Amino acid sequence: MNPIILKVAFVLLYVATSIIRSPHAKRNKQNIITLDKKTPLEKGLLAGAFLGMGIIPLVYVLTPFLNFANYELPMGLQILGLILFIPTLWLFYRSHKDLGQNWSVSLEVRESHTLITNGIYKHIRHPMYTSIWLWVIAQPLVLNNYIAGFGGLIGFGLLYFLRVGQEEKMMLQEFGEAYEAYKQKTKRLVPGLF
Ligand code: SAH
Repeated sequence: MNPIILKVAFVLLYVATSIIRSPHAKRNKQNIITLDKKTPLEKGLLAGAFLGMGIIPLVYVLTPFLNFANYELPMGLQILGLILFIPTLWLFYRSHKDLGQNWSVSLEVRESHTLITNGIYKHIRHPMYTSIWLWVIAQPLVLNNYIAGFGGLIGFGLLYFLRVGQEEKMMLQEFGEAYEAYKQKTKRLVPGLF
């Protein structure tokens, strides 16, 4: 497929997720934080994910600098990547909507935080991370470049594996038995699987 179409599709995904997130980010600025588990390492890994999913792909889309690392893929795989954008966007939207004021970009609990166990959270504990996994799996299928394609998998993968255990520990500290019972009933990323 013409790489321009694929590049435009990736930029549209990026813009759409930013639009989905922006009202939540704006509103939740007013939250009063009561438990803050941000560490310098987590901040660094967040920056790494932003680099791999945003900045490096943008450099690839807008400049020829990374073209030495291009590869070719069959069109079927490129189309699969584009199709994966659909569940990515839906889960991204749904998880923000269900978390509402409880969403934050880093590990923190706000004043009057509520434990969400309904909506998409009834089926899995980390739908937003499922959405982002789908994104970074689709990224090398759509951006056929070793650096821009795989930057997301590396950046988000590192963040996820550091963060998910810490996040569950924080939720247990805040919600105790209610979160333990919720953990018993749900898987992390894929309903009934893992
Ligand atoms: N891991 C979740 C949420 C990501 S946003 C997901 O992938 O969908 C990260 C913030 O969401 C955390 O700092 C925590 O405060 C909050 N959070 C995570 N799970 C939650 C839940 N079930 N109910 C309420 N808040 C939650």
